[in-house]
Amino acid sequence: MHLSGLHHVTMITGDAQRNVAFHAGVLGLRFVKRTVNFDAPHYYHLYFGDEAGSPGSILTWFEFPGAVRGTCGPGMIHTIRLGVPSSASLDFWGERLAGHDAACARGDASLSFADPDGLRYELVVADPRSRALQALSPDIPAEHAITGVTGVRAYATGALGADRELLTQTLGFTETAPGEYVLEGADGPVTYGYDMTDSPGREGAGTVHHIAWHSRDEDHGAWRERVMQAGHSVTPVVDRDYFQAIYFRQPQRVLFEIATTSPGFAVDEEPGRLGEQLRLPVQHEHLRAQLERTLLPLTAPRATGAAPSGDA
Ligand code: ZN
Repeated sequence: MHLSGLHHVTMITGDAQRNVAFHAGVLGLRFVKRTVNFDAPHYYHLYFGDEAGSPGSILTWFEFPGAVRGTCGPGMIHTIRLGVPSSASLDFWGERLAGHDAACARGDASLSFADPDGLRYELVVADPRSRALQALSPDIPAEHAITGVTGVRAYATGALGADRELLTQTLGFTETAPGEYVLEGADGPVTYGYDMTDSPGREGAGTVHHIAWHSRDEDHGAWRERVMQAGHSVTPVVDRDYFQAIYFRQPQRVLFEIATTSPGFAVDEEPGRLGEQLRLPVQHEHLRAQLERTLLPLTAPRATGAAPSGDA
């Protein structure tokens, strides 16, 4: 039994419209779903990704309007790495981000920047084995489009032995150097690495809430058993409408989720029209009239399916 790769990463934003403008506009990601937080239905939950909303491409945000910026500390993911096709793409993105007043720092093989909430990104050249998870924004050449999440980095403190055991023995990651791991699944490699700090963090805008790994549907129950048998406290299976999920904290306290492939984001919208309308979980549908009054309307850069010709 192997995890397929990453499923999604979920963050906190203080401003949904600004978040949409940056991720769907500047970064050119597909706005995959506009819905509300299952556990706090008066707030948005926004999903971005590739054209199909494929696992491995998905970045999601809970909006808490006006949320104060957080700071990253032990047990928190501090950087998300997104893939691009080539080193020429790093030059393209350096110019594009500078043109949108986003400060960037170019390394030998990376480009670092932050979103408007302060969430840190690194663009890196994607491993060619990774499945193409492209969003096809009309104003971004396909040869430079972002190709999904290639890895994350988290802060840790103290010994990493219990983490190593969970990641390698239970979840099937390979340790490539002390505190550096890779998950080689069917979706392509995803890296997970630690940097050490003793400076405490605080959850808030621009911080990561949790990371979800991708399980085949038929393995999901067995993953829950395996994580429990390894001594971790796991939630029951939770129906998140677009996938089934289980949650547990790893020893450094990063919140992990394992999510299924099915049913996927086209379960309640036409695949070519994802993200256009407010979708509500069944149990919150009775709040629709109220939510349509209280949630600030969002303008997305690509209102209707604008996939260039030749897209499958
Ligand atoms: Zn999640």
